[in-house]
Amino acid sequence: MGKLRVCINGYGTIGKRVADAVKLQEDMVVEGVVKTRADYSCELIRERGYPLYAASKESLESFKKANVKVEGLAEDLFKKCDVVVDCTPEGIGAKYKPVYDSIGVKAIFQGGEKHELVEASFVAEVNYEKALNKRFIRVVSCNTTGLSRTIGYLDKSFGVRKVRATIIRRGADPSETKKGPINALVPNPAKFPSHHGPDVQTILPHLEVVTGAVVTPTTLMHVHVVNAELKSDASVEDVVKCFSRSKRIRLIDAAKGLDSTAAIIEYARDLGRKRGDLPEVAVWSDSISVIGREVFYMQAVHQESIVVPENIDAVRAVTGSVVEGGKSVMLTNQSLGLI
Ligand code: NAD
Repeated sequence: MGKLRVCINGYGTIGKRVADAVKLQEDMVVEGVVKTRADYSCELIRERGYPLYAASKESLESFKKANVKVEGLAEDLFKKCDVVVDCTPEGIGAKYKPVYDSIGVKAIFQGGEKHELVEASFVAEVNYEKALNKRFIRVVSCNTTGLSRTIGYLDKSFGVRKVRATIIRRGADPSETKKGPINALVPNPAKFPSHHGPDVQTILPHLEVVTGAVVTPTTLMHVHVVNAELKSDASVEDVVKCFSRSKRIRLIDAAKGLDSTAAIIEYARDLGRKRGDLPEVAVWSDSISVIGREVFYMQAVHQESIVVPENIDAVRAVTGSVVEGGKSVMLTNQSLGLI
């Protein structure tokens, strides 16, 4: 089998990271990336050797005006690929689906799209097999990925009766200047459940998960305060061991100075991670507490990068090139230098 030909449609926060991650895989090649207009990133795309395609005829004109060379239109690229990783903004992926369908190319959508659009929603360590050989799947949102990873491990190890979680959301990504709030805490929404609980149920459908969310004036990470009721007894040590078995959960200690999202991002930079990313969900081991059969813990999610390894595994799953999820997770982690 030759290398999997992958293209990335939408070159923003997620798309540019997915493209760089695909480039690092021995079994994949970046066949091209799709952009709507010329900006500083075209030069970086050229330097990285990614063929550039225009999203539409109008975008083609804007590239021509800016004197930026493009290889053709998005549809020309989709026809050459095994898989499109759709990293366009919320709702745009759904508009592209008929195009992918008519060309006959497989597509991986992101968390901004609805579960109903696809055959399966995906978190690699929880339900890899559900995505095997499917045409259309969705890598769930950053919050859903973080929650599903840890709840999924608790469920595998002890059985989970129910989950209650509070999500303290970042207001915007660091590069976004038009979003807020800048001086308020905003219930998001001011009712229960927030959409995250039902979204986790697209991955773990047998669990009762209720979430509430508040948006905060910060750009670095989300924080989750989680309470899970288990079906069997577990000590704090058992829970620590359970999370340690995951290849995408990183246990950190507030007592050692990793006591805030700012400290965690500084740590990711110190680790030498590209862009200072931390695709693992970071669980504060000091926060893990057990009262009866209830487990409490706090975790932090780097929203810009947590879904990047999942997209790489998703490419292997939909093409069926690797049938065992654990093997794909290992290949992806090794290539990205995770844990
Ligand atoms: P983004 O706005 O940073 O990037 C989207 C890119 O797509 C932009 O470069 C935009 O110009 C381009 N685009 C817009 N219309 C297009 C079109 N018609 N064709 C091709 N490209 C087009 O968005 P993002 O944050 O990377 O989010 C992408 C998806 O990932 C969304 O579904 C989002 O919900 C999901 N997601 C985002 C985050 C996050 O924190 N940023 C985390 C997890 C999942």
